[in-house]
Amino acid sequence: MSKREHLLKIGVSGIRGVVGEFLTPSLACAFAQAFGSYVGRGTVVVGRDTRASGPMLQHAVTCGLLAAGCEVIDVGVLPTPTLQVYVSATGALGGISLTASHNPPEYNALKLFNGQGQFFNQYEREELLDLYHQSDFQQAINSQIGGVRQVLDQAPRLHLDRVLRHVDAARIRGCGFRVALDGVNGAGSVMTPRFLREDLGCALHAISVDPTQPFPREAEPKPETLGALAQLVTETKSQVGFAQDPDGDRLAVADENGHVLDNDDVLALAVEAALARLPGDVVVNLTTSSAIDDIAAKHGRKVIRTKVGEANVVEAMQQVGAAIGGEGSNGGIIFPAVHLCRDSFTGMAFLLDLMASTGKTMSALARELPRYYRRFGAVMFEHGKLGDLMLQLEERFAGAEMDRMDGLKIRLPEGWIHVRASNTEPLLRIAVEASAESDAEALYRSVTLLNSNRE
Ligand code: MG
Repeated sequence: MSKREHLLKIGVSGIRGVVGEFLTPSLACAFAQAFGSYVGRGTVVVGRDTRASGPMLQHAVTCGLLAAGCEVIDVGVLPTPTLQVYVSATGALGGISLTASHNPPEYNALKLFNGQGQFFNQYEREELLDLYHQSDFQQAINSQIGGVRQVLDQAPRLHLDRVLRHVDAARIRGCGFRVALDGVNGAGSVMTPRFLREDLGCALHAISVDPTQPFPREAEPKPETLGALAQLVTETKSQVGFAQDPDGDRLAVADENGHVLDNDDVLALAVEAALARLPGDVVVNLTTSSAIDDIAAKHGRKVIRTKVGEANVVEAMQQVGAAIGGEGSNGGIIFPAVHLCRDSFTGMAFLLDLMASTGKTMSALARELPRYYRRFGAVMFEHGKLGDLMLQLEERFAGAEMDRMDGLKIRLPEGWIHVRASNTEPLLRIAVEASAESDAEALYRSVTLLNSNRE
């Protein structure tokens, strides 16, 4: 099976692919028409991130929605969480964000949201996909065709005001924090500097905040891709550094020494901030650090774990009425009191609020977190051999507590191993965590060794 066959994906949260080769305007138009037929004749909000194919696909999507008899509100370049808040606040029937998130610039995608500005649940997704595959679309006649309205200024204010309600903004402003920002020239390029400067009174040093320019680095914000931010932090003597992904839902954080924190630690700090304010439990995916369990326990709260994927975490959060949730490894903080979605703006506000309320540096806050050693990686396996490999792992750790909800999670006294097969490549993703560094190394090796012994 060639890798190219997987370059178009129609699934969990929408439709994604390499533009031109696989994701074409006609496909986007048809999918949008299916979406419009599904949500009904009413208002649908359409926005995008900054990649070059955005305007082209926005036209295609708008065309499909109008053909289905919808009214379109064009919110222009806008972070995904901001679009989600706007959909829920305005009574629109749904929203479409044109963004391939952290994927490379040649990709784009349609992220689909219901009238609450949330991902469709699995039943709704199946229904929508059926409708698309059967080309069972509404075809508006002349008298039913709606218009397109551009609303560019309302959504950011609406979103940011909700965020500000959950922190002590006056206290943050009083600190006048020196903050570095890497906006990856993405959808947050204009909104994020305004938020940090005007709402939170930061002395801001920003790079890559030109939405007309291409992404200057790998789009996923993680320690390996944030050298420029680390340098900016040290050069400007900033107290903290923030980096977003192209659609502004993910957040990475650097401390005052330019050290980029593990995303699990960022989530842990946000969980600490949220549980100190609000009652409720915590929902995270199976790969997220046990630090979250320690923090929740300190506040007398439980942690519920789900399969990997934002939609899975969000669905569980809704079911249990969680106070906060997220996916450590993916840099996602989900705080439902603002909106049930990954939101880098809430993350930034929470971390500045923690610094302001404790008077501690970012490195000190990170140092005080429960200490675990994590190791992430992936190994290739031969197609058809995955079952064997997983069985060998189960045998190797026979007697340990096994969770088969998403791949295999093995809980051991010294830590845990979580392995999942990629759904696009013959690749086994490995995540390991332990209280001691040597244990983390040993657990990681036990998986890679098993794979190499087989060859
Ligand atoms: Mg994203």
